[in-house]
Amino acid sequence: MPACDGTEFLQRIRNLKAEIWIDGQRITDNICDHDAFKGVLKSKAKLFDLQLEKNKKDFMTYTSPLTGQRVGTSFMEPKTKEDLEKRRLTTQEWAKTSGGMMGRSPDYMNTGLMALGAASEVFGEQHHRRKNMKWLYENAREKDLTLSHTFVNPQVNRSTGYYEANEEPISARIVETNADGLVIKGARLLATQGGITDELLVLPIGGKYIEESFIYGFSIPSNTPNLKFICRESFAYRPSQFDHPLGSRFEEMDTIVVFDHVLVPWERVFLYNNYTIANSMYEKTQFYPFLLHQTVARQTIKTEFLLGVAQMIVETIDISGYLHVKEKVSELITGYETMKALLLSSEMGAKTNSRSTMVPDPNPLYAAITSFPRLYPRFTEILQLLGASGLISIPTEQDFQSTAIEKDLQHYLQGATCDAKSRTQLFRLAWDISTSAFGGRQTLYERFFFGDPVRLNTSLYNGYQKQDAVELAKSLLNQH
Ligand SMILES: Cc1cc2nc3c(=O)[nH]c(=O)nc-3n(C[C@H](O)[C@H](O)[C@H](O)COP(=O)(O)OP(=O)(O)OC[C@H]3O[C@@H](n4cnc5c(N)ncnc54)[C@H](O)[C@@H]3O)c2cc1C
Repeated sequence: MPACDGTEFLQRIRNLKAEIWIDGQRITDNICDHDAFKGVLKSKAKLFDLQLEKNKKDFMTYTSPLTGQRVGTSFMEPKTKEDLEKRRLTTQEWAKTSGGMMGRSPDYMNTGLMALGAASEVFGEQHHRRKNMKWLYENAREKDLTLSHTFVNPQVNRSTGYYEANEEPISARIVETNADGLVIKGARLLATQGGITDELLVLPIGGKYIEESFIYGFSIPSNTPNLKFICRESFAYRPSQFDHPLGSRFEEMDTIVVFDHVLVPWERVFLYNNYTIANSMYEKTQFYPFLLHQTVARQTIKTEFLLGVAQMIVETIDISGYLHVKEKVSELITGYETMKALLLSSEMGAKTNSRSTMVPDPNPLYAAITSFPRLYPRFTEILQLLGASGLISIPTEQDFQSTAIEKDLQHYLQGATCDAKSRTQLFRLAWDISTSAFGGRQTLYERFFFGDPVRLNTSLYNGYQKQDAVELAKSLLNQH
């Protein structure tokens, strides 16, 4: 089955019946009708419909090299700079539907799987690992499957000297291998959209986890027996789009993943007991440059969205005459233009690798991803500083339907350029970006989206070729 539409996607997720727990209860009814999930699932279904629209299908899908049918562009292994552009346009088309608020739109992990699948030889021939990786990628591409992922161990003790020695595993590890596959016990963090995607991609953590039992990589259906997803509290408090413009539609949910003796069939394992591959696979498959290209494309749209909201606030309460207001909006403009420039620069500097895959230049992308965890919280702060009490004087849709108070609201909450209801709708949007529980999570998300920002900066420093800059400095030192 090639690139699917929203109805097919929803049907698949409804039939999946993964083991999802929320507020102490296991979800047994139709997940697509559940208050915590119906908004995001509907929004995701719209993405699938979008890719099949007549004027979008040309760039949002491409011809499968395997079947000749149209499949999603986010699965495409780019061979040219035009292919990279097509990938960017697809990501941004999807990101525009949520203002970039859905960090785990399907293209995120499709991109990751593409990077791994296109370089499947990295996983070696032993026990068919290369073949397994290739199949996982092609199977997802041909069926338009969605994936969530996890590569973080529970946050028990992060000191450098800590090594987990518990009899009863905390961090998920292999407790048995048998003729059928690996048996995994323990937990992993933090699968956003866990249980509401077709598969869960489990990636190696690397670093000090050198013991054999921690070296594994696989993808399994989300409804694999004994696999549990434990949700946090839902931030989709009300279904009304007026009241919760973002939370009602794009609350992705984050889950703790528990493996309770989960059997992972061998044919789904692409990494096992090979420390060298575990430690080199991200670099060799160029997993990060590809994932970053998708991430920065989305974050650019998100920045543009926040810029638009900021400017609408400025106009609505007419504060454009103040210099500090212009300065604050200019910060958003600068952020947007910088992200856009870095993204395009990564495409301009893209190079083909030994597999003839076109890989975006990682340097501008690393510059973007190390900047965004600082930029995004500042952008939401700017919305708070411009919106002020307007972010809290936000009656609900029901208030506007009450004959007893509707007249008061219409009179006292009007804006300089619009009526009270439109003004409230805009400020509720700014509140949901900057101040609500949904907004708070978004800020945390962007801080840690690509891992710990501290260690990201260290990677940039360690990997960056600084010699040209040093030579320039030296030449000026010696100039007479
Ligand atoms: C909203 C949200 C959604 C997420 N979704 C996903 C997902 O879908 N899939 C997924 O796999 N992960 C997801 N994550 C997890 C994300 O990848 C991690 O938050 C990130 O990698 C940081 O790891 P941690 O949270 O365990 O922080 P920790 O590693 O526990 O860090 C805590 C603090 O200790 C410091 N610290 C810890 N160790 C070191 C060290 N060695 N050197 C220097 N400082 C250190 C950090 O700088 C930080 O200040 C999500 C996180 C959030 C917040």
